[in-house]
Amino acid sequence: MSQSRSSANIGVVGLAVMGSNLARNLASREGNTVAVYNRSPERTRTLLADHPDAGFVASESIDDFVASLAKPRTAIVMVQAGKGTDAVIEQLAERFEAGDIIVDGGNANFHDTIRRERELRERGLNFVGAGISGGEEGALKGPSIMPGGSAEAYATLGPILASIAAIAEGEPCVTHVGTDGAGHFVKMIHNGIEYADMQLIAESYDLLRRVGGHDVDAVAEVFAAWNEGDLESYLIEITAEVLRQKDAETGKPLVDVITDQAGSKGTGVWTVQNAVGLGVPVGGIAEAVFARAVSSKPEQRAAVQATIESRPQVQPAGDGFEDDVRAALYASKVVAYAQGFDAIIAGAQEYGWRIDLGSIAKIWRGGCIIRARFLNRIVEAYAQNPELATLLEDPYFAAAVRDGEAAWRRIVATAALSGIPAPGFSSALAYYDSLASERLPAALVQGQRDFFGAHTYKRVDKEGTFHTLWSGDRSEIVTEPSTH
Ligand code: NAP
Repeated sequence: MSQSRSSANIGVVGLAVMGSNLARNLASREGNTVAVYNRSPERTRTLLADHPDAGFVASESIDDFVASLAKPRTAIVMVQAGKGTDAVIEQLAERFEAGDIIVDGGNANFHDTIRRERELRERGLNFVGAGISGGEEGALKGPSIMPGGSAEAYATLGPILASIAAIAEGEPCVTHVGTDGAGHFVKMIHNGIEYADMQLIAESYDLLRRVGGHDVDAVAEVFAAWNEGDLESYLIEITAEVLRQKDAETGKPLVDVITDQAGSKGTGVWTVQNAVGLGVPVGGIAEAVFARAVSSKPEQRAAVQATIESRPQVQPAGDGFEDDVRAALYASKVVAYAQGFDAIIAGAQEYGWRIDLGSIAKIWRGGCIIRARFLNRIVEAYAQNPELATLLEDPYFAAAVRDGEAAWRRIVATAALSGIPAPGFSSALAYYDSLASERLPAALVQGQRDFFGAHTYKRVDKEGTFHTLWSGDRSEIVTEPSTH
């Protein structure tokens, strides 16, 4: 096995699909010499045999791997998230010296990243949690990279990551997101938005088929056409491809032979859990997570179906139905992204990160699953006003939602009357209507809370905090006087 001491500017530990592709990507860029190591040497040998010209500096022991790295030593860990990552980090940390950099490029929980960064900083080492999106193809050809960690580590790491990242509008899709766990946090939100986007596309497909009366091929053509306009995105593009695919065995559209139970690997759940903890309504993401969960409950679905005598009649599609669906999709997508960016703002506030929202939209324009033309609009929105209270306040997005509003309402109503679930569309519309309503029934909820729990309330007409003596004479008392 080739061995050259201290010659590699970057190393990769973990050579399964992601690690080997990332190592190949790194090796293909000028200026990089890539050290590689995997716990089981077979993977390393296979990588070397398959890519003899990549110039890898390969090791079969962790000691040799560490010795093969030039200082400051920089190693990207691409192993199974959780215990595997902790084990490899410890092996490296025991051998690394002050100033060296350990990068976790796996799908870590950002809470783990915060802990690992703190522990390694106390040992004088740099630790960078870097979210890497784009799956195996992205890792090989150019992913979107969301690194956290210290500015010091980024000075060394940044140019290396920029060399392998996707390029969008001439810029590499990587930015120093913020300190410690900021990168993995933003990657988590990215995945949450991905869930919402996919759910909204799936609802559009369902409506085009069941209300619009299109066959699967026709729906594929609708998505292909949408991909030429404002909705242009990787997810819309692959939707058309998936719908065009025929099952070799039966000749049917593949989508009709795939079981209708969606799985997940958990990052959507993390997004919702964390957003709820931060008090941020991310209904679009939550509904997408729930929709996958409901789909995966065959017993409950069968039990309810067994009780049903008749289903509502599907409403007529009417003229312009396709355009209505497109408008509902676009408006709901705006809401989902607005909610995702709200979660980033809240996370940054909670964990002390300075996150530039425009830069996040920029690095999502290439290499990742949610890459889309639409993200340019978000970049522009934050460039015009970095302090937006919500993306929905931005003049472009406000107009986009207003223009699609009537269609959006028609689609949600049609879905409800036809008995077709559209949780993403309806929750997005309810969220928008909540923000748009001058007065919400939250006032009544406050009254109820005060009734059973003396939780107090505020009044619209004067300062202070109040409580009604519900079990007494029902007079009102001041519990906290006005500070004025
Ligand atoms: P994986 O299947 O998640 O993990 C397999 C790799 O982890 C192997 O190299 C394995 O080594 C190593 N490993 C596991 N436990 C270990 C331990 N205790 N000590 C040393 N090595 C250990 O690999 P992957 O699919 O390439 O993903 C790598 C990381 O990238 C994961 O965190 C994953 O979540 C993330 N990610 C994956 C994708 C994707 O599309 N697959 C996309 C984005 C991010 P052995 O060969 O010795 O078993």
